[in-house]
Amino acid sequence: NTLLSVQEALSQAPPQLLIAVNDLLFYTVAEGQDTIPAHKFLTALKGTGLLTGDPRLKECMDTLKETLKESADGVTLDRHLFKKCVQSNIVLLTQAFRKKFVIPDFLPFTSHIDELYESAGKLTGGQVADYIPQLAKFSPDLWGVSLCTVDGQRHTVGDTKVPFCLQSCVKPLKYAVAVHDHGTEYVHSFIGKEPSGLRFNKLFLNEDDQPHNPMVNAGAIVCTSLIKVNKYWGAGRGVSCLFNHERILFDRFQSERESGDRNFAIGYYLKEKKCFPEGTDMTSVLDFYFQLCSIEVTCESASVMAATLANGGICPITGERVLSPEAVRNTLSLMHSCGMYDFSGQFAFHVGLPAKSGVAGGILLVVPNVMGIMCWSPPLDKLGNSVRGIQFCTVHLVELFNFHNYDNLRHFAKKYDPRREGGDQRVKSVINLLFAAYTGDVSALRRFALSSVDMEQRDYDSRTALHVAAAEGHIEVVRFLLEACKVNPAPRDRWGNTPMDEALNFGHKEVLVFLEQFQGEHSAPSSGANRGSAEKSVDNLY
Ligand code: GLU
Repeated sequence: NTLLSVQEALSQAPPQLLIAVNDLLFYTVAEGQDTIPAHKFLTALKGTGLLTGDPRLKECMDTLKETLKESADGVTLDRHLFKKCVQSNIVLLTQAFRKKFVIPDFLPFTSHIDELYESAGKLTGGQVADYIPQLAKFSPDLWGVSLCTVDGQRHTVGDTKVPFCLQSCVKPLKYAVAVHDHGTEYVHSFIGKEPSGLRFNKLFLNEDDQPHNPMVNAGAIVCTSLIKVNKYWGAGRGVSCLFNHERILFDRFQSERESGDRNFAIGYYLKEKKCFPEGTDMTSVLDFYFQLCSIEVTCESASVMAATLANGGICPITGERVLSPEAVRNTLSLMHSCGMYDFSGQFAFHVGLPAKSGVAGGILLVVPNVMGIMCWSPPLDKLGNSVRGIQFCTVHLVELFNFHNYDNLRHFAKKYDPRREGGDQRVKSVINLLFAAYTGDVSALRRFALSSVDMEQRDYDSRTALHVAAAEGHIEVVRFLLEACKVNPAPRDRWGNTPMDEALNFGHKEVLVFLEQFQGEHSAPSSGANRGSAEKSVDNLY
């Protein structure tokens, strides 16, 4: 919606502003040339993470097709034709090409994702679920990962177009819709918020004779009875718009129903304990429950649902507000504490992100305010989670990226933060380090060292913090860098100068003597000539 209002504002902007924005975009993509081959534009666009099929780019793509018919060789765009194509989607395209999306350097990020996918794909353990006949048909070799960022950047790798049933991955959605329809208080007058510590389909209620939480079958069945199955929130409409109306089917629930004795037992137990709203028809609730569990998606369409949760309830692709912020916050909280069966505590510890697994082998993972991910591989571990999906999330994803809810984003731990531009992040780090050395700010340098900053980073002149501290005569900084951080005492900058040269050039005797002594104590015994030259250098000081 913001995008639309900015687009609207731009359409009323003075022509010269519009020309400037268009020209900027043309120069960014043309890289100094006078024309842009259409394939170069489309390749550059894909490099930002946007799909050419993204509905937000429809006008641009339609115009591009028409415009190429006008171009001399049918494949290149001059400035005029380029502007004609991009005009109606200029805001989104400018954001994309100016790297203003949540993952600015998208291609390096996705190449890491592909590596993690390959690593997790090597795992072969686990069993494909067979208590629901529909599930038993899937090959244990299937493995796919799709992601969608809160800006609608998309990436997909592996078997991501194969349809599979959401199963329990639909529980967060059900719960979110119920809270969206009725509010937190009403929904939790029927269902608890605590992990059960028991298997997902255990016939067990909490001490208030209510289901423990909406992520176990008992809670999900009660939740299903709370959803207003009306024209808007009927399984067809409401759920579909969470998936950007991409692939979603409801027609396989017969298999689930026919093997649903345990759930019918749970349903009758819930009825006996008066867990449903007055007048509920338990069997039709169960039918709806089976239908929602049997929703068929692909990794790609389900990643949009996860991204909608990451994006506070607004679908990143359509811009539609599908769920209230309250519903999303509650849902992510309960996914975090109860989403991964009896592995929920360990998942919260190791991964620290809201997730929900399903017996078809899906894991719906949400990186709040960043992206949604759907991993899918049918073989399950003994707790019912996808073996490859768990490996991808626990061992690889949060080891490489600082996505864990409790990873510190300000101090540079040895993790990669894809939310920042690679160049920017490194430049900022060097500037911060050398500025602290320039001002003699030892406490800042201590914080950097504790945050695993590389204390020997160099700027474009190959200057280090030690060079700068020696040039400024900050003896405490020099001492800290050498004794605590163990930096190289004699790095050479672009002109061949060492920190000792800097101390000499700027007349800082104390630093010079310290450097000379430190090097004498920590280097191989230097020849008399060297020592002589160092002493001579000290004498030269006067
Ligand atoms: N429909 C399945 C059942 O009710 C869902 C189980 C799951 O995916 O955790 O048993």
